[in-house]
Amino acid sequence: MTVRENIEEIRAEIEKAKTRAGRTDDVLLLAVTKNVDFPLIDESLECGIKEIAENRVQELQKKMAHYEDRVIYHLIGTLQTNKVKDVIGKVKLIHSLDRINLAKEINKRAEQQGIVQDVLVQVNASKEETKSGLYLEDLDEFVYNILEFKYMRIRGLMTMAPYVEDEALIRKVFKDVYDAAEKLKSKYELSMDYLSMGMTHDYKLAVEEGANIVRVGTAIYGERKY
Ligand SMILES: *Cc1c(COP(=O)(O)O)cnc(C)c1O
Repeated sequence: MTVRENIEEIRAEIEKAKTRAGRTDDVLLLAVTKNVDFPLIDESLECGIKEIAENRVQELQKKMAHYEDRVIYHLIGTLQTNKVKDVIGKVKLIHSLDRINLAKEINKRAEQQGIVQDVLVQVNASKEETKSGLYLEDLDEFVYNILEFKYMRIRGLMTMAPYVEDEALIRKVFKDVYDAAEKLKSKYELSMDYLSMGMTHDYKLAVEEGANIVRVGTAIYGERKY
């Protein structure tokens, strides 16, 4: 399968999942380009991919140096506080806000640049030790504590489901995060425009459960070589 065929198939699957869920709104296919060589990324851009995501700042910077303003960038991986200055104002969304100190630094750097940085709060709904993010029960207090930051805007939630075959379990994670977003929306009058959920393994389920950003790497570019 070529990158083009992969993308066409994923787009079709997203539409089918939307239909199953009775949805007519847009779902962004966010291409995860980590460890992918430029020719393959070029191919995906020719198929209309406009937004790409990296999980490491250093890789993100390489892609930025290469593609400049020809694509829109997202950061989806854990962000160290000392790297905030390298991404602020350069990425459309930071998907991985998971602690107060990081929020403070984002807010501070954004203020210095006179911009507002959009972020998603990362949720660890399944409480896996290997995953970062807020537990669902801690989400409300966390969001309350960062509402004061005026140069950072919470635009929604991001999560990763456990890598298992149990569809019911995956679905529950996505549904819990969807419900959490709805609650925060009404309680704090946040817009909650984005739900970033679903990867190669589970993006169809995520769309059925309300994701409007799916982060897909392997299904577009093939297995990564590390
Ligand atoms: C790598 C990565 C993805 C994409 O994973 P695939 O299984 O290759 O689709 C999505 N989200 C995050 C946070 C990632 O690090």
